[in-house]
Amino acid sequence: MEDLIIGSHVSYTNNDGLLGSVKEALSYGANTFMFYTGAPQNTIRSAIDKDLTLKAHKLMKENGIDIKNVIVHAPYIINLANNKDLDKFNFSINFLKQELKRSEELGIDKIVLHPGSHVGLGTDEGIQNIITALNAVLDTEEGPIICLETMAGKGTEVGTTFEEIKEIIEGLKYQNRVMVCLDTCHINDAGYNLNDFDKVLKEFDEVIGLNKLACMHINDSKNVMAAHKDRHENIGLGTIGFDNLMKIIYHDKLKGIPKILETPYISLEDGAKDRTYPPYKQEIEMIKAKKMNPNLLDDIRTYFK
Ligand code: FE
Ligand code: FE
Ligand code: ZN
Repeated sequence: MEDLIIGSHVSYTNNDGLLGSVKEALSYGANTFMFYTGAPQNTIRSAIDKDLTLKAHKLMKENGIDIKNVIVHAPYIINLANNKDLDKFNFSINFLKQELKRSEELGIDKIVLHPGSHVGLGTDEGIQNIITALNAVLDTEEGPIICLETMAGKGTEVGTTFEEIKEIIEGLKYQNRVMVCLDTCHINDAGYNLNDFDKVLKEFDEVIGLNKLACMHINDSKNVMAAHKDRHENIGLGTIGFDNLMKIIYHDKLKGIPKILETPYISLEDGAKDRTYPPYKQEIEMIKAKKMNPNLLDDIRTYFK
């Protein structure tokens, strides 16, 4: 097994299907990737093209991408923590069930999910709602795994501490169907000190268990620790910093865990609002070189000009 499994968020379009996503990942020099099976902010989904999926699997095999490391992200409008509007709550449950089926059709068995926002109900009730909803979605022993993402604590988000995630998992009937996605920007913003990552990882292991860690989102943060903001920054340009992120990416205990970049796209000039471009090729190069590129943004701009 390869030690460093690194990739980024990529797009998925109906025209190109999974094949387009694989091609995009390969263009970044990645050996894994993550994508939404449609627009993240809505629930419009079209049928999956079997031919494109088969071609995608073949291309992955040829290029050493293990499908086991590829991740689907559930759309963030799914909210399992609030049940005030029962229609919406049930819609979220049914939609997540469909997303699991779509992922299976694509051959992917890990789906990252934001636990949800309680929107005034309080964390305890939010957690109970998430448990109810997940038990409805995960009603059999076998099937894809939902990876609960650790959240920054923006607004009324649930799942901002390891304890909250653990409480959700413990309420589930089929706990083998749930794992965790650790997001570095989110845990920084939630109040975990990434200057001492060994301590954070030890805490994760004691509270949730390292065996439950399925994947990681590697992002720098625009905000200081405990800011509860959730604004991602490019690698090495935020408050977590290049050295801390490298320690995490190359940590002995995290070998073989898929690591996904969700860092912001870059505009060609500072402040320009027209088009933005993916930073992932240059960020992955920098990570593989284990050396901060002081001209990261300029290099990205030159590449796309
Ligand atoms: Fe996420
Ligand atoms: Fe994330
Ligand atoms: Zn985020």
